[in-house]
Amino acid sequence: MPRTQTVKDYIRTIVDFPHEGIMFRDVTTLFADPRGFRMAIDQMLHPYAGQQIDKVVGLEARGFILGGAIAHQLSKGFVPVRKKGKLPAATIAEEYKLEYGEAVVEIHDDALSPGDNVLIVDDLLATGGTAAAGIKLCERLGAEVIGCAFIVDLPDLGGRTKLDEMGIDVHALCE
Ligand code: IMP
Repeated sequence: MPRTQTVKDYIRTIVDFPHEGIMFRDVTTLFADPRGFRMAIDQMLHPYAGQQIDKVVGLEARGFILGGAIAHQLSKGFVPVRKKGKLPAATIAEEYKLEYGEAVVEIHDDALSPGDNVLIVDDLLATGGTAAAGIKLCERLGAEVIGCAFIVDLPDLGGRTKLDEMGIDVHALCE
């Protein structure tokens, strides 16, 4: 009998993208499959069942796809964290380190209210720089980050440790 497919089975690896030596974990094949996509959304939500979530925050860009579906499932609002210069109204910004250089992410300064319980979502946790910047933005607006949910964690890159040290609850569907 064929074994049941897991979320991991729907993810493909692209060698040498975007640079030589990088093994890019491509979740577009997971998103494109109706069973895989639903499985991913259900499993990302599972650890937070029964918890109060006021807003779902998605990190650009694949976090928008996941976050939109999760917010819809919860009947809650969705808030984007975007790369610098993309959001039209007043923003606050956080800079973070990349392998080469720096990046800046932003959130609208009225997107969250003090005391909001927020779930942050993205496709993949690597060094944790992007997620940490997203967490700081939410916290600066007075929100409480109740967790960060990912499809993939790359544990060797230290992201989970970084978020653990910030006191953030991290869940990933696979490594
Ligand atoms: P970090 O900031 O080092 O944790 O990198 C995570 C961010 O980079 C996330 O927004 C991911 O979407 C993106 N990312 C890094 N590596 C991959 C990959 O292999 N597949 C998909 N996204 C990736």
